[in-house]
Amino acid sequence: MTATYITTTIPYVNARPHVGYALELVQADVLARYRRGQGDAVRFQSGTDDNSLKNVLAAQAAGVEVREFVDRNAQAFVALGDALSLSVDDFIRTSLDPRHRPGVERFWRACAAAGDLYRQRYEGLYCTGCEQFYTPAELRDGRCPEHETLPQRVSEENWFFRLSRYAEPLREAITTGRLHIEPAGRRNEVLAFIDGGLADFSVSRPAERAGGWGIPVPGDPGQVIYVWFDALCNYVTALGYGSDDAAFRRWWASEGDRVHLLGKGVLRFHAVYWPAMLLSSGQPLPTRIFVHDYLTAGGRKISKSGAGAAALEPAALAADYGTDAVRWWLLREVPRVGDADFTVGRLVARADDELANGLGNLVNRVVAMIGKYRDGRIPDPGPVPPGGEDLDAAIRQAGERVGAALDGFDFRQATAAVWAIADEANRFVNRVRPWDLAKAERAGQAPARLDAVLGLLARACSALGRELLPFLPDAAARIARQCTPRDMRLPVPSPVFRRLAPA
Ligand SMILES: [Zn+2]
Repeated sequence: MTATYITTTIPYVNARPHVGYALELVQADVLARYRRGQGDAVRFQSGTDDNSLKNVLAAQAAGVEVREFVDRNAQAFVALGDALSLSVDDFIRTSLDPRHRPGVERFWRACAAAGDLYRQRYEGLYCTGCEQFYTPAELRDGRCPEHETLPQRVSEENWFFRLSRYAEPLREAITTGRLHIEPAGRRNEVLAFIDGGLADFSVSRPAERAGGWGIPVPGDPGQVIYVWFDALCNYVTALGYGSDDAAFRRWWASEGDRVHLLGKGVLRFHAVYWPAMLLSSGQPLPTRIFVHDYLTAGGRKISKSGAGAAALEPAALAADYGTDAVRWWLLREVPRVGDADFTVGRLVARADDELANGLGNLVNRVVAMIGKYRDGRIPDPGPVPPGGEDLDAAIRQAGERVGAALDGFDFRQATAAVWAIADEANRFVNRVRPWDLAKAERAGQAPARLDAVLGLLARACSALGRELLPFLPDAAARIARQCTPRDMRLPVPSPVFRRLAPA
C-alpha cells in the first residue's frame, strides 16, 4: 500500500482564519480523500504556527497574554476541521505539542553536526510580518513586497544556516523531478532564485527580541530558533522525528509520496530553505510541492483583520451558506494558476446554479420518477438507450478524468469531470422526456424504453454520489442515501441541497 503524506502549511495565529486559508485546507482534504478512496494509506496533517514573533506583537497590541491570545486564535483554526468537513488525521500546535520541541532540537543538532550552522553578526532589513530579512533589491519602493510595510533595520548576532552549500543539490533535485514543483511557473521561479545565488540565512534571534517566546537554541539559551526553521520542522516533528521514529519512518523516510500544499508567498521557504535543511540533516526531501495563488475578496487583498474580516471567516461562511457551497466555490472557481476573487454573491450563484438546480434537482427528479413510474424499484439498465451515449461516456470517464486532474493539482478540471455527469444527465432528461415515455407506455407502447432511460439516470446519480465524495463528502453521502434502495425501493425524494438565494 502506497503511503501518502499530505500537509497544509501551518498559519500564524495572529488573527482568526480567513477564506484564503480555507482554499488550501479544502484542496489538501480533496487529495487526502481521493487517495484514501484509491486505497492508499494516507496521513493528512495540518496545524498552527504558534511560535511566530508576529503572534507576540499581535497579542501585545490586543493587550492580552501571549499564551491566552495564541490559544484562543488557534482554537478557531482547529474548529475549521468540522466547519469545512476536513478529514485531518493530525493537527500540530507548535507551542504545545510535546512532539515538536524535541524534534526541532534534534533537527538543529543534525544541521550543526553537518557543519551547517555558525554564529555571525548581521545587519539587515527585516519584515516582522514575513519574519524574514530582505535585501534592498527585493523590496518594492523600499517596502516589503508581501506586506507593503517599511522593514526595520536590525543589527544583531545570529546563528546562520549554510544555504550556499546546497545550490547544486537543490537544482539537481528540482530539475530531475525528484522534488516536483507545480505549477511549472513556480518551479521556474525557484530555479531562477537558486541561479541568482543562495546566501546563508539567519536561523536564530536574540531571545530578548523574541519576547522569550519560541524554542531556545540548543546550547545557546540567549538565542531562540528562527520561527521558520521551527515551523518547517513541523512536517517531520508531527511524525515523531525526535520522539517516536516509527511514524516518521513510515510516512517520511520511506518510498511513499510526501506532498506539501502552500501559498505562493511562502514558496521560497518550502522549496529552497526546507529542502536544504533536510539535505543537511540527512533526511529525504518532499516528493511534491503544489503552490496555489491567492484569493482576493471583492477585488481587495484579504487580510485576517480589518473591515469585513469576520464575514470572511470560513466557519461563518459555512454556517451561513453550508459547507458544500463553500467547498464547491473554492474547488470550482479558483484556477490552478492565477488569483481568484471571492464574493458571497459568487458563492451563492455557483451553489444555486450547480448544486441546487443542477445536481440537486437531477437527483430529486430521477428518484421521484423512479418512485412514480417504477414504484421505487431501479429498473435493469440494459444497453444504453439512444441519445444516452454522451451521458454514458461522462459516467465512464469521470473516474479517470478526476484522477488525471488531481495528479496535476487541477481542482477545477477534476470537479468539471464530475459536473459533466450532472450536466449530461439533465440534458438527457430534457431530450428524452421520460414523462412522455411513461405516457406512451400507459398507451401500451415500448415499456423497455423507459426502463433503459431510468436505469441510465439512476446510474448517473449513483456515479455522482461516488465521484463527489472527495470534493463534497457531506453532499455525496446524501446523494448516495437517495440512490440506495432499502427493501428494494428507493427512499422518498428529499432535497439534497437547499437554495441559498431567495427565488
Ligand atoms: Zn512582509
